[in-house]
Amino acid sequence: MSQDSAVPHFHNYIAGAWVAGEGTRPNINPSDTEDVIGHYAQADTAQTEAAIAAAHGAFPAWAAATPQLRFDVLDAVGNELLARREDIGRLLSREEGKTLAEGMGETHRAAMIFKYFAGEALRCGGENLPSVRPGVSVEISRAPLGVVGLIAPWNFPIAIPAWKIAPALAYGNCVVFKPAELVPGCAWTLADILSRTALKNKEFHGVFNLLMGPGSQVGQALVESPLVRAISFTGSVGTGRRLISGCAARQAKVQAEMGGKNPLVVLDDADLEVAVNSAVQSAFFSTGQRCTASSRIIVTEGIHDAFVAATVAKMKTLNIDHALKASTDIGPVVDARQLEQNLRYVALARAEGGELAFGGERVERERPGFYQMPALITGTSNAMTISREEVFGPVANVIRVKDFEEALLTANDSEFGLSAGICTRSLKHATQFKQQAQAGMVMVNLPTAGVDYHVPFGGSKGSSYGPREQGSYAREFYTQVKTAYTAA
Ligand code: NAD
Repeated sequence: MSQDSAVPHFHNYIAGAWVAGEGTRPNINPSDTEDVIGHYAQADTAQTEAAIAAAHGAFPAWAAATPQLRFDVLDAVGNELLARREDIGRLLSREEGKTLAEGMGETHRAAMIFKYFAGEALRCGGENLPSVRPGVSVEISRAPLGVVGLIAPWNFPIAIPAWKIAPALAYGNCVVFKPAELVPGCAWTLADILSRTALKNKEFHGVFNLLMGPGSQVGQALVESPLVRAISFTGSVGTGRRLISGCAARQAKVQAEMGGKNPLVVLDDADLEVAVNSAVQSAFFSTGQRCTASSRIIVTEGIHDAFVAATVAKMKTLNIDHALKASTDIGPVVDARQLEQNLRYVALARAEGGELAFGGERVERERPGFYQMPALITGTSNAMTISREEVFGPVANVIRVKDFEEALLTANDSEFGLSAGICTRSLKHATQFKQQAQAGMVMVNLPTAGVDYHVPFGGSKGSSYGPREQGSYAREFYTQVKTAYTAA
């Protein structure tokens, strides 16, 4: 970091050194566009190649490092994140716009992820099996891949980087990490913390590299480099699909977590309060900017009107304001482009026949920012654009259905399959929904967003590609299996 003006400048981290980029990009607070958090270095293709080469050079040392050393590095990161969860949470809320409680919660989660994978570094064993041939033994072990490229979106500025970086390092890989352009602050902070662990020792320079910069240059160069053995990506469907093809063409391993159009089913026998809280929490909190947000709320006829009335009543109590104010329930939208997209989808839903039950308009607050009232649109069908495409904002639509069977069919009628929820008191329907919902994650009487950090995360159909992230399942992606035979 350098401070040659009132606003600090932050550099990339390559081969154990902080280096300026080809230019800088301002990091602007969506709650107050006059607040510039810092100017962040922008890497180009040449710097990306230098970082990849550094990671490649450091791989033998890191692959040979003891599990204890890897544990110590990851545990130290977890400890610092825990100790600093308030100041990092504040930075997160300032650059992304989620509330301070959400920002601190996300930082805490990132700490837990580092601590979890510190333990996984110690647990990564293999198997011994008797051979079918006499006098031969078989060992199955897991080896790191080499250099991995990690590409993150803007909506979880510290948790998503954590759930990619921690397992990559735990299993012995070297990392080139590219955060999203809109949220370099948390990424830089994480790099700063990592740079002060044992990775500061010369033999480990290059084990972890931070490259802030445009996806079209830095991301693309990672996808194309023959030295990068695997890419873990989270982001939009369009970018993800291009990246999957690029990796497949050169046989690099790839894991992509992409969009969602997550259904929340509310049946007649649901506890109304549970259903309303689940819907409001997962559709609108974190400004609806979660890949697991409920965006299609599928409600059976008997409870429909009561559910809509109670949801609107609850929405009226929500306070939309500056992310760092203690009284704020929902912060601003991340930037002008996303706000414009949200408003466009609200207008389109109305043009296609939906009725705006609440919200959906831009609002002004004390400071200039991207504030929007959450929108609930009723009278929609599953065929309308609002039911088919991901908005990625605080916009949800209600689809009225006859019964459980129609609700299940409607929930599954989507190209996506990330998360799906049901609110019901029926064990039969809950069980059937868990079995038949086409989604990687299923919730019963809970919001569709909000998951544990120690179990697999990911979707089905168009939402995901490749092995699962998180928990011990992450090992599948970040290691390769080796089978060795020994004659006695
Ligand atoms: P995005 O696709 O625009 O960007 C994601 C990342 O890819 C960024 O770091 C970007 O710089 C990079 N990128 C852009 N072009 C690239 C290229 N040609 N090659 C390589 N990398 C490139 O997505 P976003 O707007 O940052 O994030 C929002 C999207 O992320 C939403 O669609 C959301 O559903 C999705 N998301 C999914 C999950 C999940 O786990 N399924 C989680 C969070 C967000």
